Amino acid sequence: MKVRPGRLVLLGHPVAHSLSPRFQNAALAAAGIPLTYEAIDVAPNELGAMAALLAEQAGAGNVTVPHKVAFAALCAERTVLAERVGAVNTFWTNETGGLVGDNTDVGGINASVHELLGPPPSRTRVTLLGAGGSAAAVCAAAESWRGAPMRCWSRRPKQARMLAHRFDGTVESVADLADAVRGSTLIVNATPIGMIGDDFPVPFELLAPDAAVLDLVYRVGETPWVRAARLRGHRAVDGLPMLLAQGALAFERWFGVPPDREAMRASLA
Ligand code: NAP
Repeated sequence: MKVRPGRLVLLGHPVAHSLSPRFQNAALAAAGIPLTYEAIDVAPNELGAMAALLAEQAGAGNVTVPHKVAFAALCAERTVLAERVGAVNTFWTNETGGLVGDNTDVGGINASVHELLGPPPSRTRVTLLGAGGSAAAVCAAAESWRGAPMRCWSRRPKQARMLAHRFDGTVESVADLADAVRGSTLIVNATPIGMIGDDFPVPFELLAPDAAVLDLVYRVGETPWVRAARLRGHRAVDGLPMLLAQGALAFERWFGVPPDREAMRASLA
């Protein structure tokens, strides 16, 4: 059993902090919960001590770049989904004072895909760009999509091969970018390309005209890739719906009730 959070934090790197405190604090205020969601910059070598302190304080919260994998190892328990992804982005304290790690990025990805395509993908050919932590969450999400074979490309082909091995049966690794995207009807960017600057993760010349574009990266005014994709007639969505959805799912895990999603969205306007 989980205990009611005594402290709510986001552990990560400062650049990843910008939006979550805004919408989580809006959700707390809307629910009348007297807690503040604090972003804490933690160096990798301080993560263990921070996890121990949070367990003593009935802490709960989120974990972001670059700590999601390391934090999973510090949890006393992990949900099946967190085990499958190999990373924790949401945690709470149980009644014996142990941290429980979960992963709501997977639900966030499913919410984004729903916004983009409607019902869970079927007869969709998916290309995944990148083979890091969020790519693993995409692979875990795709395990519940029927008839949606996925090709994964990574700039280091070995990383894509390792991910394909972990998600054997759902994911195939492809070393060449053009081969990876050819004929795909859903392209998912799980690299940081587009966070800064105007680069695209894949040139539009390589995309099928009916390819839908899901960028996990978010940025004020959408990412350049998503804006350009829409101008070219592709359906496209950036990482903001995923960010909000994973945050709403995390709130529900901590407090057992859904947050006011409209208040969360309005806080970002
Ligand atoms: P990660 O674990 O560091 O993985 C990043 C992946 O992108 C790795 O495969 C990496 O390859 C590759 N990569 C990095 N720079 C690249 C470049 N210039 N060209 C090609 N590939 C490159 O990071 P992550 O946690 O998966 O996050 C990836 C991005 O997803 C983040 O930047 C974030 O914006 C976004 N994200 C969004 C949400 C959301 O809620 N919307 C949640 C999680 C993540 P190497 O291994 O070779 O470096």
